[in-house]
Amino acid sequence: MPYRTIIEPFKIHSVQEIALPTAEEREAALQRAGYNLFNLHADEVIIDLLTDSGTGAMSDRQWAAMMVGDESYAGSRSWYRLRDSVRDLTAMPEMIPTHQGRAAERILFAEAVEAGDVVPNNTHFYTTRANIEYQGAEALDLVIPEGRNPAADHPFKGNVDIDRLVALIEEVGVDRIPMVMVTITNNSGGGQPVSLGNLRAVRRVCDRYHLPLFLDACRFAENAWFIKLREPGYADKTPRQIAKEMFSLAHGATFSAKKDGLANIGGFLAMHDQELAGRCRNLLILTEGFPTYGGLAGRDLEAIAQGLEEVLDEEYLRYRIRSTAYLAEKADAAGVPIVKPPGGHAVYLDAKGLLPHIPQSEYPAQALAVELYRDGGVRGVEIGSVMFGKPRPDGTEEPAAMELVRLAVPRRTYTQSHIDYVAEVILSVANRAKDIRGYRIAESAPWLRHFSARFEPL
Ligand SMILES: *Cc1c(COP(=O)(O)O)cnc(C)c1O
Repeated sequence: MPYRTIIEPFKIHSVQEIALPTAEEREAALQRAGYNLFNLHADEVIIDLLTDSGTGAMSDRQWAAMMVGDESYAGSRSWYRLRDSVRDLTAMPEMIPTHQGRAAERILFAEAVEAGDVVPNNTHFYTTRANIEYQGAEALDLVIPEGRNPAADHPFKGNVDIDRLVALIEEVGVDRIPMVMVTITNNSGGGQPVSLGNLRAVRRVCDRYHLPLFLDACRFAENAWFIKLREPGYADKTPRQIAKEMFSLAHGATFSAKKDGLANIGGFLAMHDQELAGRCRNLLILTEGFPTYGGLAGRDLEAIAQGLEEVLDEEYLRYRIRSTAYLAEKADAAGVPIVKPPGGHAVYLDAKGLLPHIPQSEYPAQALAVELYRDGGVRGVEIGSVMFGKPRPDGTEEPAAMELVRLAVPRRTYTQSHIDYVAEVILSVANRAKDIRGYRIAESAPWLRHFSARFEPL
């Protein structure tokens, strides 16, 4: 077949204006924001790659479904629709809607995790970790060694290290391990996929020790597509068949509909265990609402149910994963070091590699993120020492392992020319890398400082 561009498998039906602030306006915005991109007004941003969470575009069918959303307090038709689509996909009879993924986590861990417990995962997302730690338990990351090395090329860098999992269970004892979790794709590890072979191996370990396996399934469809592309034996299977096989290995799942639900808000907790689900429902009523709407409007339940159908469409997934790889290839061609291979939802630029003259104590990834905005109004997010640096007793700071800028791609939101533009901005910044200076923190909060800190250029 002759080479053809993989096109966006949709046409634009409704548009939203992008403001185009001038270079002077961007400079003024940076100063006002204290060089922290979280402090920008979204209308000061030209291409917003801060996150892929809840920032995607819904389809005409999702908007149509919202119009027929049933807002009944109890037993809404929309709840039954979502329950049936989750049952079909996961084979899990119990489905508890929540306002977003972290609410599902909080409810599950409040009922299933106790102080002193240990919960292993490939890599906990920060909300998962925080909700486990909030119960007084420990959140442990057991991803394979390749998953911690940005330069290592491996088809499934999100895989769990099975030997370490077994060693952990033997060391800690099953009584202190309430569940094993696997995050698909591994967001904190760069959106890297987990193979079905690895999931089956995790499940065998769980069976041997009688432990439940829960998936953090936010990007289950992107994970299924990587399995189709990369795992022997799956090329001819549909993404839905692969996703069903993934879920068939789990006892339960937490889900944020803001990712592969293709919705702007929502989530759910699903499981086989009726008794645990009953306890979770009682807690749900306390904070989220009645079990058939769980903090969401009926129309949101419809949007998620419809999104779960669309996200497994092959043409959508081919375009989705290709558009992330396309941006990665452009950055790579510009000579900008990136985390390889690119994950499903984001490209990670390696600021330590691009700006070796800026010491980690002067936040090279923050400097790179600021420069992408200054140059072209592109907003990414620093994932480096601003986010993960730890203060030492002497007032200095222990830097993060890596200095990355994450460019997350919202679903169905930007076109190829937007991504070409982002690549041009990256190239332009890379060309004057030598002249870029670091920052010092002028003001910061005691925790999660990356959201609110103010910086001064050095
Ligand atoms: C986004 C995310 C969550 C939390 O979901 P929210 O809807 O943001 O609360 C949990 N785990 C992973 C892997 C995520 O990407």
